[in-house]
Amino acid sequence: MSAVSEGAVPLAGGTDLMVEVNFGTTRPDYVVSLRRVDELREWDGHRIGAGVNWRRIERNGPRALAQAARTVGSPQIRNAGTIGGNIATASPAGDGHPFLAAVDAEVELVSPTGRRRVAWDDFFTGVKTTALGADELVAAVILPDDLPERQEFGKVGVRNAMVISTVCAVVTRGDDGVTTVALGSVAPTPMRAGRAETMISAFSRPTKGDLAEFQRLVSAEVRPITDHRSTEDYRRHASGVLARRLLERCLR
Ligand SMILES: Cc1cc2nc3c(=O)[nH]c(=O)nc-3n(C[C@H](O)[C@H](O)[C@H](O)COP(=O)(O)OP(=O)(O)OC[C@H]3O[C@@H](n4cnc5c(N)ncnc54)[C@H](O)[C@@H]3O)c2cc1C
Repeated sequence: MSAVSEGAVPLAGGTDLMVEVNFGTTRPDYVVSLRRVDELREWDGHRIGAGVNWRRIERNGPRALAQAARTVGSPQIRNAGTIGGNIATASPAGDGHPFLAAVDAEVELVSPTGRRRVAWDDFFTGVKTTALGADELVAAVILPDDLPERQEFGKVGVRNAMVISTVCAVVTRGDDGVTTVALGSVAPTPMRAGRAETMISAFSRPTKGDLAEFQRLVSAEVRPITDHRSTEDYRRHASGVLARRLLERCLR
């Protein structure tokens, strides 16, 4: 949770914050709406303002981020909910996170004293905690200039719509074979499966055996827990299967 001034909490779409208020888990003294801050809704090339909602991303985002946007809640939630709110909430199940992790995005933060950019890996510090300072807002996410041509998002949940991810993932593959795999809901923060990435990036035309090994490595690398949504074992299995299927789509 971040504050724009002492005791005040920023509100973008309210689709996370108001749930917490309704459940009584947070009771801010003051709420500052960001909806009329035009700068936050600006989308300039690879700089996406924190106040850009999922509906716009669904229509105009890079392929895998648009795929993720399409799965967030319902049309009403996608019209209200923003990418900045998704990041600031820092839920391990945030569907926007795997894409940003897979492409090594940066997060731009703004405060009364200036702006700074934080590398994606340094932004999340734990479950629902971030590097956001008490007087900072998320201003934007910055994507790299060159995004991989092939990129796929996928999500496993207990039903097909309006579902929080049991596992979500993005796989990207460049023309040079360099592959990234990022997963959500399987660790305290979004994670990359580095050993699986290194292994599969070495093959220009992976065989069935290579794909099976890739799946095994992803399952081995994730660090899921058992909670009310799923078990550790299922999440581990689903992570490997999902990542392999996304890679197969990238290879088509
Ligand atoms: C029915 C329902 C279904 C949902 N389904 C999904 C889903 O499928 N996938 C998914 O990932 N999420 C889902 N969500 C969660 C939520 O919609 C998303 O996380 C959304 O992106 C949150 O954005 P928001 O603008 O509504 O955030 P808000 O609720 O306005 O804010 C969330 C938090 O971020 C802070 N904040 C907001 N903007 C900023 C900023 N610019 N700088 C600093 N702090 C900021 C707020 O203070 C608050 O702590 C769902 C929620 C609901 C209610």
